[in-house]
Amino acid sequence: MNNCINFIQNAFGADCLLCGAYSGPENLCGDCLDHLPHLPEKRCRICSNPSVSPICGACLARPPHFSRTLAILSYEFPVDALMQSLKYQGNLALASTFAKMLVEASKGFPRPDFIMPVPMHPAKLRERGFNQAIEIGKIASRKTGIAMIESRKIRDTPSQTSLPWKEREKNVRDAFACELKFDSSHVAVLDDVMTTGSTINELARMLHGQGAGEVSAWVVARAVKSI
Ligand SMILES: [Zn+2]
Ligand SMILES: [Zn+2]
Repeated sequence: MNNCINFIQNAFGADCLLCGAYSGPENLCGDCLDHLPHLPEKRCRICSNPSVSPICGACLARPPHFSRTLAILSYEFPVDALMQSLKYQGNLALASTFAKMLVEASKGFPRPDFIMPVPMHPAKLRERGFNQAIEIGKIASRKTGIAMIESRKIRDTPSQTSLPWKEREKNVRDAFACELKFDSSHVAVLDDVMTTGSTINELARMLHGQGAGEVSAWVVARAVKSI
């Protein structure tokens, strides 16, 4: 049904999901796109949290396993509502909108050799029917020509959003696996939203164990921790 709706939207144009104005083949009109909340200019090169210096105190004290973050939007209204629409209403047309933003922003970044979406546990995947990170990743891969690779989530962990920040790191420890050997290549781990960065950090740790030379993060939205 959703595919059918998406087809109709693509073929005949549709109304903007946020304001209802006609938005042609896109699901957001130009005006709403221009007014989405962006991240502050001054932010940490590694974790993308607001920071007056290029690397924030937290990353200096305890460097993550990923080297930099490409993040576009601030995870607040209406970005959170759009993410919910993508994830829980299966509004897959938004995957394309977000992928386009990532691809555009990635032009100023070192080009990775692979894009690896954050995997979902098979039980969760059965429940939802799709993994939004893979949907965004597929389009980003097609648009950039960077190969998309997949890893596995081997432990069905409680949702990170249900846990206090401090427990999120422990929650995802050893939750991922990948049989590929990376031979010093650069892998960009892609996700829809980054909150503490614990999930991407754990994937980066696993990827370095598989021989990756560099792991970076590509995320559509970042939950901003105030300084
Ligand atoms: Zn609009
Ligand atoms: Zn940082």
